[in-house]
Order: sequence, then structure tokens, then C-alpha cells
Amino acid sequence: MLHGAGGTVMHELVKNYVVKYFGDSATKAEVPLEALDDAAVVGGIVLKSDSHAVKPIFFPGGDIGRLAVSGTVNDIAVLGAEPYALTCGFVLEEGLTLKDFERILASMQQTCREAGVNIVTGDTKVVEKGNLGGCIINTSGIGRRTIALEKNLAIVRQHRHNFDSCWILDSNLKEGDKIILSGTIGDHGLAVLSAQEGLSFGSDIKSDVKPLNRLIQRLLNEVGGIVTMKDPTRGGLADALNEFSEKSRLGILIHENKISVREDVRAACEMLGLDPLEVGNEGKIIIGVVKEEAEKLLELLKTTQEGKDAEIIGETTADFKGVAMQTIVGGKRIIARPVGDPVPRIC
Ligand code: MG
Repeated sequence: MLHGAGGTVMHELVKNYVVKYFGDSATKAEVPLEALDDAAVVGGIVLKSDSHAVKPIFFPGGDIGRLAVSGTVNDIAVLGAEPYALTCGFVLEEGLTLKDFERILASMQQTCREAGVNIVTGDTKVVEKGNLGGCIINTSGIGRRTIALEKNLAIVRQHRHNFDSCWILDSNLKEGDKIILSGTIGDHGLAVLSAQEGLSFGSDIKSDVKPLNRLIQRLLNEVGGIVTMKDPTRGGLADALNEFSEKSRLGILIHENKISVREDVRAACEMLGLDPLEVGNEGKIIIGVVKEEAEKLLELLKTTQEGKDAEIIGETTADFKGVAMQTIVGGKRIIARPVGDPVPRIC
């Protein structure tokens, strides 16, 4: 199960097996498989595929259908592209009721409307009863460049003359860039865990699952200066920041007092011995932005529903490698890449 939990074990599996066989796409793709970014770019089109196996299929704040649309939309959106068409492959488990299937379809329709995308082709299979948990959904999607992305890159080049990337990539960070987190962390993972274990935590922790493409296009269009973005899903903030740090070959220093965690999520994490930094999210983004635009970007984010709890949580540095956190009590703690997300089948 750890092989599917984000973190070091999954990264090793992907690098040592999948990339070993398919990792020669650099000659054909502008952003190839071996970049291991959120999506690929080929022939000017952003392309992404994502399978969703969350268990249970309905959880507080969302369901597998909303997750399947949001997950693929967000992975395309964080490269700076606008997603416009999705495919949808269902693997249904014998015994899933038509009522539940229809509930999932209606949720996907609603989420597609929020994101402004359409499902244009797909496939449906049924397998014998086993451990599927009702169904698995694969969504793939395509996205294209927008004027907002061009405007954003023009702002980056005003501050950094040698910037030559055409997309928002994990490897684009330079020393001095600011790191912004769009809101509270751990909500999705704890909501799924509460549904898996039948725990209530005496509160109403809900998943944050939602499509973020419209928000991202606004940020690119109205402020700009964004060089990198990621949705911190499996493995949480800790895994995503380590991806940035590794691919950009820079240290990242974050500040614990700037990281928002809901009180009930923090209490539940403490009770269960989980680190909220390693728990997955489905409606948050981490943004790397040139320092000159960071305050303006934060101001805009804070006016939005999705970004009302946003903060500048840290900055890049050449002083050390990896990710470190200035703690509230005054020390420094290394934030290693987690072995895997502590919550199984989170997405
Ligand atoms: Mg992603």
C-alpha cells in the first residue's frame, strides 16, 4: 500500500520502474515524463491522467466523482494551463447500486460546471466483487495556454531577465522566491480518515476537494510573477515542498507560525500521531512567486473564498539543501520527504 501513498516509497517505484521503461520522452515532449511534474506538455498541449481509488467513495465534503474531476483539472491548472476537456473511465464493482452510481455522475457534472470543462469520451467496465470499494474512476484531461499565462510569464521576466521556461514548473524556483500556501492543510486527509474509521473527532472536518483552475487563471492574469505551483495531495505539504526543493536544487525555509491548520484538524492529528504537513489536500495550492509580487498575490488570494486563509509561508535559500521549518518555539526542524501519506487510499 505504501507504493501508492505518495512519498519516498512511491517515488522510488515510479523512478525505478515506470520511468525506466517510458522515460525517453524528452525528444518528443516539451515537459516530458521524466520531469515528473503534475502534467506533461506535448505539441503545446498539457496532458494528464489520474486514477482515483478513494475509500470510501463518499466522505465528508465530497465523493470520488468530485475528486476525479478536481484532481485532473488541478494538475493541469498548476502548470498554468486552462483545462478544457476530460475523459472518464469507470471501473465499477459488482454490487455498486445504480443510485450511488447516479449520485457520483451528478457530482461529476456539477464539478465539471464549476471548472468549466466537459467530459467528452470515456469507458465503462464492471469487475467482480472484491476490494474495490464500489468503483475506481480514471480521468484524463487536456489543457491549453492562455493569455493569462503569457501575462504572468512577462511579469516574471521583468524581475528575472534570464527566465526561459514557458510553463509553471517545479524546477523554476530561484533563490529569494517566496512560497505561498493558499489555506489550511490536512482537511481532506482527516475527512477521508474519519469516514474510513468511523471517527467523528467531535467536529465537522470536511474535505476541501474543489477545482482550482479559475482561481489560478485569476492569479496569473491579475498579478502574475508565479514561477511554480503544486497541489499538495498525497504526502501533503512536506512532499510537495521537497519536490520543489529537489527539482529546483535549492533549500526552502518555511515558518511554522504561518502554516494554517484548523484547530479540530490539529487536535485529531495529535490524537492519532499524524503530522498535518504529511496529510493530503485536494483544494489547496502552494505557489512559488518572485518576491516582488508576493505581497500583491497574497492580497488577491485573501479576497477569494479558496484563498482567505492564505499566507506567505516561507522562501527559497541557497544556504542549505532540502526543506527546513522555523518552529514556533524557536528551533529549526528538517522537513523530510515522508515515506508515504499516513492515510491509505486518500485519492
Ligand atoms: Mg499534483
